[in-house]
Amino acid sequence: MNEHDDYELETLAIRAGIERSQFNEHSEALYLTSSFIFGSAADAAATFSGQKPGNIYGRFTNPTVTAFQQRLAVLEGAESCVATSSGMSAILATVMGLLSAGDHIVSSQSLFGSTVQLFGNIMKRFGVETTFVSQTDVAAWRAALKPNTKLLFAETPSNPLTEICDIAALAKIAHDAGALLAVDNCFCTPILQRPLDLGADIVIHSATKYLDGQGRVLGGAVLGRKEVIDPVYVFLRTAGPTMSAFNAWIFLKGIETLKLRMEAHSRSALELALWLEQQPQVERVYYPGLPSHPQYTLAKHQQKTGGGIVAFDVKGGKDAAWRVVDSTQMISITANLGDTKTTITHPATTTHGRITPEQRAAAGIGDGLLRIAVGLEAVSDIQRDLARGLKV
Ligand SMILES: *Cc1c(COP(=O)(O)O)cnc(C)c1O
Repeated sequence: MNEHDDYELETLAIRAGIERSQFNEHSEALYLTSSFIFGSAADAAATFSGQKPGNIYGRFTNPTVTAFQQRLAVLEGAESCVATSSGMSAILATVMGLLSAGDHIVSSQSLFGSTVQLFGNIMKRFGVETTFVSQTDVAAWRAALKPNTKLLFAETPSNPLTEICDIAALAKIAHDAGALLAVDNCFCTPILQRPLDLGADIVIHSATKYLDGQGRVLGGAVLGRKEVIDPVYVFLRTAGPTMSAFNAWIFLKGIETLKLRMEAHSRSALELALWLEQQPQVERVYYPGLPSHPQYTLAKHQQKTGGGIVAFDVKGGKDAAWRVVDSTQMISITANLGDTKTTITHPATTTHGRITPEQRAAAGIGDGLLRIAVGLEAVSDIQRDLARGLKV
């Protein structure tokens, strides 16, 4: 394909990043090799010194991983992309590549639990401090800035309450302070939201979720301008949390159906959210595609649809919520999301079980809250499975 032509995202998701081998294979090749050979001593020396482009060792580059990086970069509108072994190692590599002891992060408090642990506990031991602020309070982000703030970090929509932050407003705050804005785009994927277009400097992915889309393997990615990503790559090739070729191959195939899946997840999630709002046992529904969502207008402007994650409060607290979980016969009781299979989680006793009840209350995670990652089964079957436990 001619890369100067303007292709639509669904076309790029299928066609971008393919470099065929001498065998002219049609589908993407899987290169299971840890190292690459050279024609001569001089050839090896030129490749190692960087004078000659080429693969050297799997910790540095692999053609299947490169294909994945190129495809995702095109979809996010990024100049550069590095693939990682998981979503968490994408976040770790970003911090290790771009920050030093004495630097400061301003982060949303509504983050994936492991990211809170990484910033709040682990990075702190290495002299990087983090101030956590409300996802939706733009003034609080500005007030938390310090002279040594290097990074603003957000995840939108957030897990599990689907709070939306204003990416363009946060980008301006970051740039006025000489800092970078990183956005974890796991819930939306580039099909629904492109943070770089809105001014963000870095996009983070847990490819484990929607990019695979079928709950098979772990992976992640960091994307942005070349000058921002280069130091992240230096950390990766040195420290080693790189993506395996096999996983890259799985993600390449997953991405081919990403648009179809994201549209289907979103359609079903909206239908389910509207239905949940009608159930007498449901107190409140959290979904960015519902007009009742506090940031509905911002979400409409920033993302194409509401995405596939719906959360709701059940009347009656923990017992009532657990009854819904335990009455399901089809939906999977598991914390993963972005799968074809619908999953259900009780955040207060699982993903957010390790924080104090006070912290949970402050974060708005009540004992009756349930999170559904809506899969691709018939919505009527998902509703029937939930209705059993919602009966009065
Ligand atoms: C799952 C997840 C991560 C971490 O990704 P892993 O691939 O599990 O390491 C980071 N951010 C968000 C929003 C996630 O859902």
